[in-house]
Amino acid sequence: MIVILKEGAPKDHVNHLLNDLTQLGLKTDVIKGEHKQIITLIGDTTKVDIENLMARQVVENVRRVSEPYKAANRKFHPDDTIITVGNQKIGQGYFTVMSGPCSVETEEQIVEVAERVKAAGANFLRGGAFKPRTSPYSFQGLGATGLELLLKAKKATGLQIVTEIMSLRDIDLFADVDIIQVGARNMQNFELLKELGHCNKPILLKRGLANTIEEWLMSAEYIMAGGNTNVIMCERGIRTYETMTRNTLDISAVPLLKQVSHLPVIVDPSHATGLTSLVKPLSKAAIAAGADGVMIEVHNCPSKALSDGAQSLTPDQFDNVMESIKRQLEFEGKTLLKA
Ligand code: PEP
Ligand code: MN
Repeated sequence: MIVILKEGAPKDHVNHLLNDLTQLGLKTDVIKGEHKQIITLIGDTTKVDIENLMARQVVENVRRVSEPYKAANRKFHPDDTIITVGNQKIGQGYFTVMSGPCSVETEEQIVEVAERVKAAGANFLRGGAFKPRTSPYSFQGLGATGLELLLKAKKATGLQIVTEIMSLRDIDLFADVDIIQVGARNMQNFELLKELGHCNKPILLKRGLANTIEEWLMSAEYIMAGGNTNVIMCERGIRTYETMTRNTLDISAVPLLKQVSHLPVIVDPSHATGLTSLVKPLSKAAIAAGADGVMIEVHNCPSKALSDGAQSLTPDQFDNVMESIKRQLEFEGKTLLKA
């Protein structure tokens, strides 16, 4: 439920109202928009007497929010959320490029890729240390050592890092990670999401392989309900009957999410297609659709990569994709901050 306040509503009246609403056991938040303030109410709002609320001097209107996602709902937060990570901003006109290998393999590999993607204009380094692999016999990632190598690459380049968490057990190892990724396979690992709701780091939440947009938003809601509102949605393709691509990029999810939610949305054309040749056109499509960023896999030697080599760009190919991305961003009036 949202309570829209009249312009210039006196502070003491608003505080009084907030106090009464909290007494009903509701979680309240005051959102200051450009002209108006709204109070958002989360909890059992059946106890709220709407007529009584409407009769208050400071209240302009009261609206029930029928969607099950509340904190992630644009009705609760009319302005776009901008997520600040160190010297970077994500959302509302600030475009972000997260690049790096699927898996961290060696120090030389991750530092070399980090240097190359930074030089090309990427503003975050991505790399997996804990890898969710379909087969238990495939490379599972370097784990804690991989995180250490990522931190070395961060130190060497100044790029902030994004990496995936797979288990609650590892959470303490992520203390120096800048953005924690929740992968497609863990999108509905509710215990993990709840725990991440209590940490103060931005969470990159990938869409599950076969999840609806509403289910995906409900997973964001799990994190936000715990108090962590820094959630970035990442569309990485969904399972369809198509076999010529690894997944099908649901490009419509981008503008749709922007309509119904205030959270930043980024697109991962690498996992969405599994094909290097589609990374450039789909990155451009993502920008045109209103995405706030892209996540692209880059490996210094894709043919020897321990995971996802077929979809990884070489640093030279990435240079070329970045040129197109920059041209398209200029056309759309979006800013790519320098790392
Ligand atoms: C990844 O980013 O390397 C990854 C495993 O992605 P997803 O969870 O989207 O499959
Ligand atoms: Mn991958």
